[in-house]
Amino acid sequence: MLSTENQEKLLPTLKKYFGYDQFRTQQQEIIESVLLKNDNLVIMPTGGGKSICFQLPALLFDGLTLVISPLIALMKDQVDGLNANGIAADFYNSSQETHEQNSIFDKVVNKEIKLLYVAPESLQLLQNILTEEHVSCIAIDEAHCISSWGHDFRPSYQQLGFLKKTLPNTPIIALTATADKATRRDILDQLNIPNAKRFLASFDRKNIELEVRPANDRVLQILKFVRKKPNEAGIIYCLSRKSTEDLASKLKQNGINATAYHAGLNFLERTKTQEDFIYDKTQVVCATIAFGMGIDKSNVRWVIHYNMPKNIEGYYQEIGRSGRDGMKATAILFHSYSDVIQLRKFMSGAANEEVQAAKLERMKQFSEATTCRRKILLSYFGELMAKNCGNCDVCKNPPQFFNGTVIAQKALSVIARLKEEEATGTVIDVLRGAHNATILDKGYDKLKSHGVGKEISWRDWQQYIIQLINQGFCEIAFHKNNALRLTNFSKKVLFENEIVYLTKPVEVKEKEVVEKAIKEPKVKKDTLFERLRKLRHQIALDENIPAYLVFSDATLKEMERARPMCEADLLEISGVGQRKLEVYGDDFIAEIVSFVGSKVKKERKNDTNLVTYELYKEGLSIDEIAKKRNLKSTTIFSHLAKLYTDGKNVDIHSFVSNEEVEKIRKAQEELENPPALKPYFDLFEGQIEYFKIRLALAMIEKEG
Ligand code: ADP
Ligand code: ZN
Repeated sequence: MLSTENQEKLLPTLKKYFGYDQFRTQQQEIIESVLLKNDNLVIMPTGGGKSICFQLPALLFDGLTLVISPLIALMKDQVDGLNANGIAADFYNSSQETHEQNSIFDKVVNKEIKLLYVAPESLQLLQNILTEEHVSCIAIDEAHCISSWGHDFRPSYQQLGFLKKTLPNTPIIALTATADKATRRDILDQLNIPNAKRFLASFDRKNIELEVRPANDRVLQILKFVRKKPNEAGIIYCLSRKSTEDLASKLKQNGINATAYHAGLNFLERTKTQEDFIYDKTQVVCATIAFGMGIDKSNVRWVIHYNMPKNIEGYYQEIGRSGRDGMKATAILFHSYSDVIQLRKFMSGAANEEVQAAKLERMKQFSEATTCRRKILLSYFGELMAKNCGNCDVCKNPPQFFNGTVIAQKALSVIARLKEEEATGTVIDVLRGAHNATILDKGYDKLKSHGVGKEISWRDWQQYIIQLINQGFCEIAFHKNNALRLTNFSKKVLFENEIVYLTKPVEVKEKEVVEKAIKEPKVKKDTLFERLRKLRHQIALDENIPAYLVFSDATLKEMERARPMCEADLLEISGVGQRKLEVYGDDFIAEIVSFVGSKVKKERKNDTNLVTYELYKEGLSIDEIAKKRNLKSTTIFSHLAKLYTDGKNVDIHSFVSNEEVEKIRKAQEELENPPALKPYFDLFEGQIEYFKIRLALAMIEKEG
């Protein structure tokens, strides 16, 4: 059992250093287990909150917590994040100067730092501090890198087994988001921690909205989607290096701040791309799966899969990079059959081809699901969900089934007429009665069934055929140029009147002309969130740290809601810890106060109109009201005009005649509705006074 002393420190430490009021599920148990010096294996989805599981105990241990992490490039951000929370931390690597390295050793010996990040390659350089006297705990992040079963195998991780031998009494906490059993066993074996406590957190990430779309017009769909979210960062995963570059350049041509990232770029280019993304200088990264590990940016708001992922593990890890702050995030997957075919090709001949193909099949089933997608995902990770999630496209827009027997019969009979030798494209061309070169060359236009499916669009046919394949009414012969073939089930449909149910193809809503979309003005509202975001951006620039390290989006949202205007209230906000309160508190409070003040002024403006209205209703003349209120009579007239358009009972006709209104109406047309009153005044050569023009315009506006 944990000492009561430590027990009582947990929540206050969480608040003081991380600003949070509560642990997420499992965090507390894991932390207690670490403090009890158990070895631990923690499996939690990306964004689940693994870091605190070793960072918080590090604060309570006497000595150093050594953090083994695979990517040197990203250690700096993690250390910056800790420092921003007032936690003494550093990183060590072979590229540092000797004096820097020595100063780190000194700090460790003098117990001046709590956490030290290091890549496995550099561990042997730390021999002199690798003793139980100095090191209280060892955290191994991205622990799946140790296993050749995992998808990010790193040979340098395989030497980590010596740690337990050298420091047998120092607790190890290994963390990963990869759940499969072979990898888990490998981690325990290789780290020599067979008795580690195992923690398997739920893989559900409720805040991520799941959506699958057909892959038609992907670029247009993406443009439309990104334009609607001018301030939101996102990642687009592509299958090939070339497609990351093509897509990034198309987005750039359309005014979107996008960059490509893949393993073919040199180290400097990759580092810069990562940093620019983390520091909010790039909005969109088009990347291969090489991008993302170790990127803790909490305000990635969306992830798009331009191509179909190879398996569900990869897909889930990638979408998990969005919405780490727990706020609403979106994951869109473009589903295309040609991607599946492509991936199958890559796999063929591989040692574990069968396993890979089976995993791809599960991915495909997920993409084509007609039931809650989250249920399918979680069941893949061994979790059962009792209810539908309500936050996926299927839940939000359940498919509508209809009797599609005739459609199925048409497609299957064309496949039969084509002797099961043609792929989907040609089958659809024949169905739609196309007269292109292939059709004419092969004489398919002479077939009886040429054109039997004219009334259905190309895209819809594509969808229907996918559904027929999924239901087993026909299949793809992958080894025979992807020709469509009949199955035993097909015969039932063709000859035994078996009923086939299909669903209406999904409409691609965001299809629109690019040029038109470009002209769409970006409306930036003056909300408190926007102002706080700007302030955060400025602070981040000044301090040269990523904006999300100042405060997360979730924390800003909470400030917007609660509008704290003093230190005590600000400290109540989740994400505001002691150090951040001290360093950033005044700036944020000032911003909130000024925002609230400006809103009050606006409200006062409305009030002033109402005071005028009260006096007007009492029957005072304009001059009398002006005198009483110490305002100019023109101001009173503008109040009345506003009151009138707001629907108040103001008798405009007592100030301006019908004839004058008509003149002004004509003038409005002639002058093409100028934004000011002066053009009218000049047109009438001063004959109609300003207040009359103002009132008449109010009247014309109200009449519509
Ligand atoms: P992981 O390493 O599992 O991918 P992180 O440790 O980066 O996830 O945590 C994801 C996000 O959740 C971070 O922004 C972190 O600050 C936040 N977080 C972690 N624990 C809590 C908590 N108890 N309350 C609120 N936010 C938390
Ligand atoms: Zn659902």
